[in-house]
Order: sequence, then C-alpha cells, then structure tokens
Amino acid sequence: MEQTNNKAVVWTIAGSDCSGGAGIQADTKTIHNLGAEVCSVITAVTAQNSFGVEAINPMPEDVILSQIKALEQVKPASVIKIGLLANNQQVELVAAQITRFNQEWTTKPYIIYDPVAVASNGGDLTEDDILPTIKERLLPLVDLITPNGKELQKLTGVFAFSWDCLTTAAQKILALGVTATIIKGGHIKIADNKSIDFCTNGQHSYWLSSNRINTENSHGTGCTFASALAALIAQGYALKDAFVIAKAYINQGLDKVKSHQHCQDAIWQGA
Ligand code: PLP
Repeated sequence: MEQTNNKAVVWTIAGSDCSGGAGIQADTKTIHNLGAEVCSVITAVTAQNSFGVEAINPMPEDVILSQIKALEQVKPASVIKIGLLANNQQVELVAAQITRFNQEWTTKPYIIYDPVAVASNGGDLTEDDILPTIKERLLPLVDLITPNGKELQKLTGVFAFSWDCLTTAAQKILALGVTATIIKGGHIKIADNKSIDFCTNGQHSYWLSSNRINTENSHGTGCTFASALAALIAQGYALKDAFVIAKAYINQGLDKVKSHQHCQDAIWQGA
C-alpha cells in the first residue's frame, strides 16, 4: 500500500461538479471523511445544479496527462477511482496510463470504475458513444465496477427486473474482463420496497437489502458510494466489508436528504 503521511493515497479521475454534490467534489469529501488521502485528476469542468447539467467542458488530453504526471512523482495511489470520462480520447488515455502504472509502479493500483453514463439529475455527461472503447480498452483493467440499473443495461443489454436477470447481468459484466462488480440497487426494482445491491467476483456473491428510500435527491450517490469503497479498500478493508460500510455511509445521507439538497449535504450536516 502506498503511503503519504501514513495515509493511504486514493486518486479520483473524474469531472468536477460546481454544485458540490457529485464528481470530484463528492469524491474528495468522501475519501477524506473516511480517512484516506485524496488527490484528483479533473477530466471535465461541468456547470450544473440539482435541476440539471448546463455544460460539460471536457479537459484536453494534455491537461489530464499533466495532472497524472505531477501526482505520480510524489503520490502514487493504492486505489484509483474513475468517474466521468467524457469522450473516447479520454478513455484511451486513462486506459493507456493504467497499463503503464501496472508495468512501472512497485505496487499495481486497485482500479474502481463508476461507469457514469447518465447523471442522476438526467443530463448526459458523455459527448459520444464511448461504450465500445470502454469495453475494449478500460474494463479489462478494472478491479471493481459499480454500475446502476441504467448503466448495467447499457453494458450488458440486460434489464434487471428479477434475481435471474440480475445474476445473468453480473456474469455478463464479469465476462467483459472486470474482476468484481457491485450492482447498485437504487434503480432496480426486484423486491417490493427494498433496494438490493449485489456484489460478486464470480466465486463469491453477497447482497445487501435495505428499505427503499424514495427520494429524487440522489444526485451524487453513485460517486459517493464508489469513493467510499475506494477509501476503505485503500485502507485494507476486504471488498465485502467495504461494501457494507459504504452502503451504510450512503444510507445515512439518503435517509436525511431534503428537497434540492445533495446526499453530500445531508452526510456532512449529520442533519
Ligand atoms: N461525475 C460528474 C462530474 C457529475 O456531474 C455527475 C452527476 O452529475 C456524476 C459523475 C454522476 O453522479 P451520480 O453519483 O449521481 O451518479
């Protein structure tokens, strides 16, 4: 495990959300809150709020690469969490850099990918159809992918409305080359009034069932969940334990979030 000031280092490679609820801002707050050191590589500067996304503004590849190079010299990561990649070139670049880290770094970083296909507030965050490049170039390098129901359907073609569909989709995701997946249950309705999150690496499977929290204020929950997993795994938690803690972390925000707040607001107010 790479250490700086005795803390495990996590990088988040993601877009910024000026409203503070998702993206780099949510990742930074979460990873810091859960005890790891956080560094960021910004892929896009979005303009948005809880009503929708106004602008995306992808960063050019050289800007992304220069952030990676600067960080790498002093703070190599034990876990890298990837969120918004705005176009094919960004996917290619990040995949090439991870391939290089795997060859050059003393310890191969653990890669978590939150496949941000569509923002929870409804705005499309990607410029073009990047799925083929993601499948071909990025997924074989990923240790853990955390799709929601919509992203699951885009990746596998399976709409999860039953346990059978869910487990079939999970097998299809693993067949794309990732080591493990946690499929988030927020948008998947396979049990009345329950949200079921499903984690598997093909050999061991776990699921968590909690009472469904009906809220429209789920913006940023995907970023927060994946970042919580990143912080915990970086500090040595096994995936199944990180899964439980990350789920509890999200729920204590979702339980309290109010209209036009972000889940992040509720987590930090403890209100
Ligand atoms: N990344 C960025 C920069 C975003 O703006 C968003 C949502 O707006 C997301 C990721 C995905 O957010 P969520 O956690 O709601 O899936």
